Amino acid sequence: MTRNEELAANLASVQDRITRSDVTLVVVTKTYPVSDVQILKELGVENFGENRTEEGEVKAVAVPATWHFQGGIQSRKIKDIVQWADVIHSLDSTEHALKLGQRAVRPIEVFLQLSLDGDPDRGGVVESELAALAEAVVAAPNLELVGLMCVPPVSAIPAEAFSQIYSVHQRFLSNFPNAQSLSTGMSGDFEVAIDHGATHIRVGSSILGSRTHR
Ligand SMILES: *Cc1c(COP(=O)(O)O)cnc(C)c1O
Repeated sequence: MTRNEELAANLASVQDRITRSDVTLVVVTKTYPVSDVQILKELGVENFGENRTEEGEVKAVAVPATWHFQGGIQSRKIKDIVQWADVIHSLDSTEHALKLGQRAVRPIEVFLQLSLDGDPDRGGVVESELAALAEAVVAAPNLELVGLMCVPPVSAIPAEAFSQIYSVHQRFLSNFPNAQSLSTGMSGDFEVAIDHGATHIRVGSSILGSRTHR
């Protein structure tokens, strides 16, 4: 099987498992070459995700598409992230919101990253901190608050975690009614996430193959 056939088959199988038409599939291409991004683009993929800005920038220059950043944000990298990212899924600091707003040269869609358990290693803010972060995004020039992103804790039962995330999102919407999007679900759990209201899923290994690192 050629790489083209392999990616086409994997993509079709993921698309078959997406049961709602309002779900955006973000194909996470981290660690995989530009040639794979090119093939996927020719297969009709319009949204790609990356975790590292150096890698994202190279691929975004090579392949015009909607580019998503979902990695941990480092303050000193913000000036580079704004060069190529159209959508950021992982905002979790008001300081970064201010900096992004100052640096953005065109509109960027922003998801706030929610943490269910407050584990600092995995990023995200707890529910009680969401409103202040959202206000910072709303106030920032060139940033558009579109929703929440969450990666459930490793030990969580997916259905329970996604239903909890859905409830947090519903409460959040009462104050920020425009933030309709919910970015949850990866290769291992995207069907459960879709059952619990995901509007964006970020899928890497199910399409590109398992990564040896990251
Ligand atoms: C790597 C990554 C993904 C994709 O993970 P897969 O399990 O390969 O689908 C999605 N979201 C984030 C935040 C990631 O770091």
